[in-house]
Amino acid sequence: VLASLSILFPSRLKVVDHKYGSRDEYRSWLIGTSGSGFRDTFGISKASNQTSSPFAWIESSDGGNSFVGGCDDTLAWCKDFCAPKEEGGEEKAVHVDDGHTKGHGYDYDLVVIGGGSGGMAASKEAAKFGAKVAVLDFVKPSPAGSTWGLGGTCVNVGCIPKKLMHNAALIGEILSSDTEPFGFTAPQALEKGHSWEKMREAVQNHIRGLNFNYRVTLREKEVTYLNKLGKFVDAHTLSLTDKKGKVSQITSSRFIIATGGRPSPLNCEGGELAISSDDIFSLEQNPGKTLCVGASYIALECAGFLAGIGVDTEVAVRSILLRGFDREIADKIGAHMEDHGVKFRKGVVPAKLEKNGEGKIEVTFSDGTKDVYDTVFAAIGRSADTGKLGVENINLKVNERNGKIPTKFEQTSVPNVYAIGDVMEGCPELTPVAIQAGRHLARRLFDGSTTPMDYKNICTTVFTPMEFGTVGYNEEDAKEKFGCGSYEVYHSSFNPLEWSLSEHRGKHPAFAKVIVNKDTDAVLGIHYLGPHAGEVTQGFGVAMKKGVTYNDLLDTVGIHPTSAEVLTDLTVSKSSGKSADAKGC
Ligand code: FAD
Ligand code: NDP
Repeated sequence: VLASLSILFPSRLKVVDHKYGSRDEYRSWLIGTSGSGFRDTFGISKASNQTSSPFAWIESSDGGNSFVGGCDDTLAWCKDFCAPKEEGGEEKAVHVDDGHTKGHGYDYDLVVIGGGSGGMAASKEAAKFGAKVAVLDFVKPSPAGSTWGLGGTCVNVGCIPKKLMHNAALIGEILSSDTEPFGFTAPQALEKGHSWEKMREAVQNHIRGLNFNYRVTLREKEVTYLNKLGKFVDAHTLSLTDKKGKVSQITSSRFIIATGGRPSPLNCEGGELAISSDDIFSLEQNPGKTLCVGASYIALECAGFLAGIGVDTEVAVRSILLRGFDREIADKIGAHMEDHGVKFRKGVVPAKLEKNGEGKIEVTFSDGTKDVYDTVFAAIGRSADTGKLGVENINLKVNERNGKIPTKFEQTSVPNVYAIGDVMEGCPELTPVAIQAGRHLARRLFDGSTTPMDYKNICTTVFTPMEFGTVGYNEEDAKEKFGCGSYEVYHSSFNPLEWSLSEHRGKHPAFAKVIVNKDTDAVLGIHYLGPHAGEVTQGFGVAMKKGVTYNDLLDTVGIHPTSAEVLTDLTVSKSSGKSADAKGC
């Protein structure tokens, strides 16, 4: 079989077996080449661990080689190679060509601009392979004056404070309505009410600890950290400005732009009175009656935790909740939030904000209605932070609409300059995506890897009061891509066991939905609305990456009693018209 495969792909696949020499001879030849600079591209360590013939490798068009493996590896490679590529799909191997040479004479092999999720990951990974690396991280204060330490959005003004405050709300919910049936009487804690100041202090202290750890890790990994704002002078030179306005310059063979994004300002009269996610987690005091503008991840997550800790919270929804997510589930989230104390003002945007005599903010909405709030919080999307980067000095292409940088395999229009994370056009704005892309890129730049970042089937969770985890196609997208009738939806509304003693929980059951390609049995999408959605969805994300089928799910033995096990036992199809309500334990 392997011989015929090598005939089939004469220019790509070379297969060697005992006919060409003994395994040991071949292995020692492979090991022998390690000194000649082929080590990384050839995958020597894998080859030298190979214990039986055949040995197969791929010769790429530029003469490079990479080791495939033995028989099973080779068959898997061929299966993958012959598999029809998705429309617009790219070659699987990426070869870097950006003019970088060993004795380049610049100050650094790599300078990473932005020490957030992606920048930190890329700089540490590159240093691991012996590159001389510097990472710049400089926080421009928000319009309301908030500023923070090393680590970027996620750590300081994103995922971390958000999840901790979401957790505060979950604790409140348990204390207020779930303790009695389990034998505890409502503890004193509740009578005292919630202290914003205490929560804020604990969260901010935790963040400061993380900022410190990041500095230590960079030092340990021998990455130079510069708390300076970087701006391109030319394709190999950056001008750096520190906090005191002192300007210096550094040069580098390569750059990675990982400057992330910043909240888009509220674009109406008086919009500057609104705060953003850059400010909310560090507010000195409870925000009081709050209007959240926007209806996606940030607005709904923040509205959820604010209401959960007892803040009078309203959301101004321009069109729909959670655009891009499964509609049926987005509606369930809305209904649950409404019962959770969040008020929704639908089909409006703020037209004008003005301060009244009491220092509160009077908002006039687009439908002419008005209301007064202590705080207006805008979460209407984010724009890439490329404004002050000097991209014009190096003719780097930027999307004028949102400041994002178009790339091919993270390489920008300037060959030695790369972009990863939120700043890159088409990149889902999620921390693990920025981290993974940064690591892959560093390996390609400094370790001879040819593996590109895979942006498909990325799982995510929306931390609304009822959490929502999702990976793959939602129902609307499946319909558009594959056509009505080509897929089946299996679903279940169920009451997680831990909710079953609390009466109030029954009104909004948890929900699971799996979308399956009727022809191939491939799972197209997995959606889970319920407790610990992030934890539940992560493992199913692995399954999706490995091409899980509906039968694989049914064939998996569940863990009882959990909510996640529902996804291994979804038998009611939507097309059957039968009720999705689960019965029994
Ligand atoms: P960032 O983390 O934004 O880092 C960019 C860094 O570059 C910043 O520190 C910035 O100050 C610095 N910088 C900018 N310009 C310069 C310059 N010229 N010179 C030097 N430094 C510069 N994602 C999740 O996966 N899960 C979540 O639960 C989640 N929750 C979120 C909640 C909120 C409220 C927000 C706002 C975001 C959330 N995200 C979440 C998204 C996540 O935070 C981002 O996707 C992630 O931080 C992007 O990483 P990055 O490296 O691209 O950029
Ligand atoms: P999004 O871009 O996801 O959504 C913007 C929201 O604001 C939409 O509801 C949009 O409505 C609305 N909007 C846009 N412009 C206006 C306007 N002028 N007036 C009123 N409403 C407006 O932005 P987010 O800020 O919520 O989040 C940014 C990104 O951060 C997310 O896409 C996500 O990738 C990441 N993130 C991830 C989290 C997680 O993993 N849990 C949590 C938080 C953020 P419309 O639908 O009408 O356009």
